[in-house]
Formats: sequence, C-alpha cells, structure tokens
Amino acid sequence: MPSTVFVAAVMALLGLIVGSFLAAVSVRLPRDEDIVLARSRCMSCERQLAARHMVPVISWLVLRGRCGWCRAAISPRYLLIELAAGGLGAWAALAMAARSDASWLTVGATAVLGWQLLLIALIDAEHFWLPDELTWPLAGTGLIATGLMAGGVPWDQVIGAVAGFGLLWLIAWGYKRARGREGLGGGDPFLMGAVGAWVGWMGLPSVMLWACAVGFSLVLARLILRRRVSGADRLPFGTFLAVGAWLVWLLGPLGL
Ligand SMILES: [Zn+2]
Repeated sequence: MPSTVFVAAVMALLGLIVGSFLAAVSVRLPRDEDIVLARSRCMSCERQLAARHMVPVISWLVLRGRCGWCRAAISPRYLLIELAAGGLGAWAALAMAARSDASWLTVGATAVLGWQLLLIALIDAEHFWLPDELTWPLAGTGLIATGLMAGGVPWDQVIGAVAGFGLLWLIAWGYKRARGREGLGGGDPFLMGAVGAWVGWMGLPSVMLWACAVGFSLVLARLILRRRVSGADRLPFGTFLAVGAWLVWLLGPLGL
C-alpha cells in the first residue's frame, strides 16, 4: 500500500465524485425519476446543467450555491452530501491503514459500504423509506466484498444475512401482534439482512445496540429540546442501523 495520506486523498476525491451521484439519487429515487439516464437540471429554470456546473464542491463554491444559468439558490444539501461522501472515503482509508489486512480491497470495500450506508441513512431519515433498490445491492456488495477478503464463501456473512433478516422480521411480527400496528418499516428486515452480509452474524447484536443507543440519544435530545415525545413519533430506524453497521464494520463487535 502507498502512504496512508495518499490513499486517504485518493479516496476523499473519489468520495466527492460518488457524493454528487448519491446526492442526485437521494433526490430522484423518492420521486421515481430515472437515476442513471436523466441529465441533471436546475430545479428552478429546468435548464440542463453543463459539465462545469457539476464539478463536486468546486462548482458549488464558485457559483456560491446558485444555478449557473438563472442564479436561483441551490440547496446546500448537494455540497454537504459530497463532503460527507468525501469524508467517508478518507475515513475508510485512515481506519483500514491501521489494520494488518490493509489493502486497496479493504479500503475500497469499506468506502463502498460507507457510501451506500450514507445514501440509505439519508433516504430513511427524509422519507422513512428503505428502498429494495438500495438494500439488496448492499447485501450483494457485502457478500462479494467479504468473500473476496476471505478468499472463499463468507459463511459468517451468509448466516448473518439470513439471521439479520429473520431477527427483524420476527421483531416486526411480534410488535404488530402485540400493539396492532406496524412498528417497523417493511424495509428494515432487508436492511438488517444486508448489514449481516457485511458484519456477519456475530456483529448483529452490536449493530442493534448501537442503533438503539443512537435512537435513544435522539429521543433524549428531542425531550430536552421540545419536552415532548409520544409513542407515535416516527423514528428512522434504518438510519440508526446504518450508523451501527458502520461502527461495527470499523470497530468490530462490542466486547470482542
Ligand atoms: Zn436555474
């Protein structure tokens, strides 16, 4: 492996480019628009953006967050998602550099996981929706990445995928029987299965713990800020699972 700083810089740049794609998907997927073929347009004047308007981060800064044609303000979400994806790329490089199995494969796999989790967390937080179009590829890339890293069938992850799906499916079923309403979104079992395809069955309890800790902190913060929380408040559990999956992938299962 080249120096850590070099790898981190490459992954950060790659992350900025991936981030601009993720930002587009995060807007288009919930609207059921074409993700790959549709050209980017200004939401205001609807003119197609030129290549010089779509350079990650730079364009936003040069145009000061405005459309290059009509000067209408563009949401900072594009800039923030690009920066987040760039940050995740660098984080992947720095986190993996410390490990004995550091290679472009482990760094690349970690970044691919982080970028997918970012998109999934974002869409669930905004729309309470975990699209199959995102959770199934997360499962597929998990089994491929961990298979390549293990040099064979990643049995722990195969079992993890089945166990993760089954666990949340059972929780959702039990909640519905007990309370008479849906407690989890239909996509949660698929996300947990996909997470199992990355962290393996032994990582799943830690992912749940992290997810609950993040969710609990959020409820606590809401209580302090607004002083009211009702049992009917919706929480994006998929977003919490995504955070948990990322931490367990980087840090390993708790207590081991
Ligand atoms: Zn415009």
